[in-house]
Amino acid sequence: MSNNKTWTNWAGTAECHPRTFLYPTSEEEIQSIVKEAIKDGHKVRVAGNGHSFTKLVETDSILLSLDKWQGIIEVDGNIVEVRSGTNIKKLGEELFNIGLGQENLGDIDIQSIAGAVSTGTHGTGIHLGNLATQVVEITFVNGKGELITCSEEIERDIFKSAQISIGALGIITRMKIKCTPKYKLELINSKSTFNECLENLESYKTENRNFEFYYFPYSDIVQYKITNITDNEPKEGGIMKYLNDIILENGIFKIMSEISRLIPATSKKISWMVGRFSSEAVRSTWSHQVFATTRLVRFTEMEYNIPAEHFTDCLKELRAKIEKEEYHLHFPLECRFVKGDDIWLSPAYQRDSAYIAVHMYKGMKFRKYFSDMETIFKKYQGRPHWGKLHYLTPMDLEEKYPMWEKFHAVRLQMDPKGIFMNDYLHSIFGK
Ligand SMILES: Cc1cc2nc3c(=O)[nH]c(=O)nc-3n(C[C@H](O)[C@H](O)[C@H](O)COP(=O)(O)OP(=O)(O)OC[C@H]3O[C@@H](n4cnc5c(N)ncnc54)[C@H](O)[C@@H]3O)c2cc1C
Repeated sequence: MSNNKTWTNWAGTAECHPRTFLYPTSEEEIQSIVKEAIKDGHKVRVAGNGHSFTKLVETDSILLSLDKWQGIIEVDGNIVEVRSGTNIKKLGEELFNIGLGQENLGDIDIQSIAGAVSTGTHGTGIHLGNLATQVVEITFVNGKGELITCSEEIERDIFKSAQISIGALGIITRMKIKCTPKYKLELINSKSTFNECLENLESYKTENRNFEFYYFPYSDIVQYKITNITDNEPKEGGIMKYLNDIILENGIFKIMSEISRLIPATSKKISWMVGRFSSEAVRSTWSHQVFATTRLVRFTEMEYNIPAEHFTDCLKELRAKIEKEEYHLHFPLECRFVKGDDIWLSPAYQRDSAYIAVHMYKGMKFRKYFSDMETIFKKYQGRPHWGKLHYLTPMDLEEKYPMWEKFHAVRLQMDPKGIFMNDYLHSIFGK
């Protein structure tokens, strides 16, 4: 146990000073911490790896890190039970060693599995769901100190709430994930124009396993990434890949970003240059090594899910607004596609979806840009990513989620005294 510790998130947009910071090493310990907290009238929050942009984790009471609660517990065919604090990169390596892989991942792999699942983290691929759809059973300690196990077959309502619950039902201790036999992917990084990309969007999206693209504001350039399953021998790119990923994509981008921060008037030109010099490459390797990219340049982010059919109109409107205003923006817009699902608080609930993310370099003003983008997202039935910034109220959210009331009922049943609530969760769920 350590006290008086400061916790901050990756982006520097959340910070807290919990009175007690704990690193439990077993499920029994997690359960007894919750029981003690109930007895003493304390609140409890749990941190993953702090890669959410919102104030989800903040508490001045008890904060748990599950960094010492990692690894695979049990394997049954392609169903793997993991400790909730397991780092996604570590999980990828452990799965690979037993001949398995995850169906899809986001573009980084340093989150904890429970943190990523709990906020609806997604990758891209219109035939593939977000990470929570890979989860088939969840065990968690609820606000009464009980250990609850739920799945499609057992306590279905609790399961549909727990799959994406932003830590509001309790502390997930274990989850079973449906994996696939390990597989290799070929990644093609290429460039095109805005119009060409939108004209061919349907085929790019539906005829490839994973498709995403970045649009560089104030330019006509898009950089797209396509991945498909391959039998090719792994071809990593060695030192050239390192030079490209670390020196070019991160190092030079960092310098450009600093120039943009110090002289905001250069942003437009920098956005164009970043697009112009973005990389084109092909590489093949095992899936868990393909999805993640290295992100050394820090930023703040808003990301919205919209129904896939509104994507083109929405993106064109965002582009027009960006070109009209002076946001001093040099980060691209990231566009991804995800299959609809049946998880109650999933932004992709009952709709095949597109996700559009907007970013601003750390230290630069983002409020007006994000608010203006949000107004457009809302027009297209947007639902925000739970780990990223948004300015919605409980009333706005209730209107967007058909199962909002049912989620609430489960939350109150699981945590009647609100021991897992913090100010941020109150700002989402109401008092
Ligand atoms: C550089 C960067 C890249 C990103 N890329 C993507 C991407 O490609 N796709 C995408 O969808 N998102 C992406 N994200 C967002 C990120 O995946 C999510 O915010 C994710 O939740 C972060 O995981 P974490 O382990 O850091 O969790 P944290 O941010 O620490 O916590 C997130 C939430 O999960 C809860 N939680 C954590 N552990 C538990 C547990 N054991 N039981 C119950 N609740 C728990 C926390 O209380 C909190 O509410 C990115 C973020 C960054 C900073």
